[in-house]
Amino acid sequence: MSYKPPYLDLYASGELRIRAEKLEAMLASCNICPLDCKVNRLKDEIARCYSGNKAIVSSYCAHFGEEPALTGTNGVGNIFFGNCNLRCVYCQNFEISQRWKEERRNEVTNERLAEMMLELQNEKKCHAIGFVSPTHFVPQMVQAIEIACEVGLNIPIIYNTNAYDSVEVLKLLDGIIDIYLPDIKYSDEQAGYDYSGVKDYVKHSHIALREMYRQMGSNLVCGADGLVKRGLIIRHLVLPNDMAGSDETLKMISGLSPDLTLSVMSQYYPTNRVSDINAEKSHRILLINRRIREREYGKVLEILDKYGLENGWAQEFESQDYYRPDFADRVEPFKK
Ligand code: SF4
Repeated sequence: MSYKPPYLDLYASGELRIRAEKLEAMLASCNICPLDCKVNRLKDEIARCYSGNKAIVSSYCAHFGEEPALTGTNGVGNIFFGNCNLRCVYCQNFEISQRWKEERRNEVTNERLAEMMLELQNEKKCHAIGFVSPTHFVPQMVQAIEIACEVGLNIPIIYNTNAYDSVEVLKLLDGIIDIYLPDIKYSDEQAGYDYSGVKDYVKHSHIALREMYRQMGSNLVCGADGLVKRGLIIRHLVLPNDMAGSDETLKMISGLSPDLTLSVMSQYYPTNRVSDINAEKSHRILLINRRIREREYGKVLEILDKYGLENGWAQEFESQDYYRPDFADRVEPFKK
C-alpha cells in the first residue's frame, strides 16, 4: 500500500484549516519562533527575520543533494525560503538567507506557493516537498499546503530547519509534517550567540528536537520505493575546532534514543562574514575560518560509536555528495 500523508486526513476533517487559522493569528504579534518579536506581520511590520505577511521564495527546484533515502531518482522538491530567523556568520546559504532587503522582492502569495508545490509533484515528479528554512514562514506554508491539498497534493512534506523553532508551532505541525530534518548546530549557548546571534539556541533547539521526537519516535517509515516517507532525521554540521560541540550534541541525541537517524556533515567551508576580508573578525570567528580537518571529522565519527548511534549517514570527508558506507551500512539503514 502506498504511503498516505496524514495531512490529507487533517485536510478532510477541517483540522488543517483550524491549524492554519491558529498559526496565522500568531503573526499579529509574532511569536512564530523563539525570538518572540511581537511585531504585527499581518500588517507587514518586520523584525529580526525581515519577513512580513507574505512568504519569500528564493528558488524552488528538484534537488539532488539531500540524503540518499530522501533524494531517490527524481529528487526532493525543495522550496528555499528567503531570509531567516538566525544570522549565522558562516551561513552556507547566505545569498538567500541574509540579503534581507533584496529577498523581499521574492515575496509570493500562498496560492503561488501552492502552485510551486504542485509543479514539483506533478511535473518534476519529486518524491517529497522540502521546505528549506521554513521556521519564519510556517503560517504561510500551512495555508499553502491546504490550498495544494484541494488540487491533489499527496507527497510527503519535509521540514528542513535550523531547529530554532517554537515548540508551540511544532505542536501545531503535528500530522502536517511527514519528515523533520533539523540541523542541531551547537551544544554551547556562547557558540549560538557568537555564530548565529541568539542567546538560547541550545535550549530551544533541544526542546524543539524533543517535540519532533515525540511526534515521530525513532522509526523511519519507508515506501515501496525504498525512500523515507515519515520520521525524524537529525543533521549535524561539524565545525572547525569543535565549535559545534559534537560530543555533547551526539550524547544528547543518544539520550533521546540511540536508534535515531543521524546525518553527519563534513561539508563546512568558511563563507559569509567568516571569509569576508573586509570584516573585522573576533577570535571566535577566526576559529572557524578554515575547513574542518580529517582528524577532527574522524573524531566525530568515533563519537557516534561511543554513543551507539548506528543509523543514518555520514558524508565522505569534505564532500557534499557521497556518504560513508561503513556508517550507513554498519546496520541496515531504515530497517525498522
Ligand atoms: S518569525 Fe521573525 S518576526 Fe516572528 S518571532 Fe521569529 S524572528 Fe521575530
